[in-house]
Amino acid sequence: MSERLAARPLVIDMLHQISAATSILPEKPKLVIIQAGKDPAADYYIDNLRRKGEQVGIVTELKQYNQNLSPSGLFHELSILNRDTGVHGIMVQKPLPAAISEYEVSMAIDPAKDVDGFHPFNLGNLMLGKKAMLPGTAAAVLELLNYYHIDTSGKNTVILGRSNNVGKPLMNLLLQKNGTGNATVTVCHSYTKNITDLTRRAEIIIAAIGKPLFLTAEMISAGVVIIDVGINQIRHPTRGEIYVGDVDYEGCFSKAAAISPVPGGVGSVTTATLLRNVLQAYKNRKQ
Ligand code: NAP
Repeated sequence: MSERLAARPLVIDMLHQISAATSILPEKPKLVIIQAGKDPAADYYIDNLRRKGEQVGIVTELKQYNQNLSPSGLFHELSILNRDTGVHGIMVQKPLPAAISEYEVSMAIDPAKDVDGFHPFNLGNLMLGKKAMLPGTAAAVLELLNYYHIDTSGKNTVILGRSNNVGKPLMNLLLQKNGTGNATVTVCHSYTKNITDLTRRAEIIIAAIGKPLFLTAEMISAGVVIIDVGINQIRHPTRGEIYVGDVDYEGCFSKAAAISPVPGGVGSVTTATLLRNVLQAYKNRKQ
């Protein structure tokens, strides 16, 4: 019988734990989100983050700029926030205006306030297995695996996608010599040949490529565990605009041992891991 790896019970647990931790703090941890321009998926993510933040005792402030925000304007804002002792976490929402480099933004945020975990200091420590602020989505995948007692040790694990924010951090986390790692990891990308040969050999597949319903039943073996990171908006013939993952959930469900849904999977956990990072940033500052 296949298992649906729903995020809901895990998210309830995580939010409860954050809430319990913030309730005994002398002040509320604070996250500042900077957004330049509007984007439906980003707006949805920010609204959700702010709503959940309020539930768990984390203050969020949205600094909204238009699409013409200049690099110098953004870096000036970041330098003020870095020095502000009342701000514990800083997040710059993507997409960024074309003139602004993602790498330079990551470098401009104080690593101690880098709740997205994209600063090279945090990514370097992640790779070395040292204490680091973990990127929310990669951490969310580990949380989901852990919550459902899916052992990664020695498992032939295929990650579809090598982005800096999902695939690469995840690869490094799953390779760590610890209880949530020890996997044998293969990472696929747009130059990978014969992906199906690799996915069919996998015991765990994590799909993060941004291609709707890419992974089909023909590409997997019976008993595989699938984590779907993808969030893609498509037009459904009868249901209008809907969100689907990178995995053909319906097609793969009965063949897989377990599979995470979209929506209601990794995306919901990511919000909780991000809020947990804000709490962690607060605690690190106070130590
Ligand atoms: P991205 O930066 O666009 O990276 C996509 C990766 O997939 C790249 O490494 C690319 O290869 C690879 N790829 C694309 N087409 C491929 C194909 N046909 N075969 C094999 N590899 C292919 O995307 P991302 O930011 O990692 O996001 C991936 C998906 O996850 C998106 O749907 C996004 O919306 C979703 N996402 C979800 C969350 C969440 O919290 N649930 C968070 C972030 C992203 P190359 O490197 O060779 O180009």
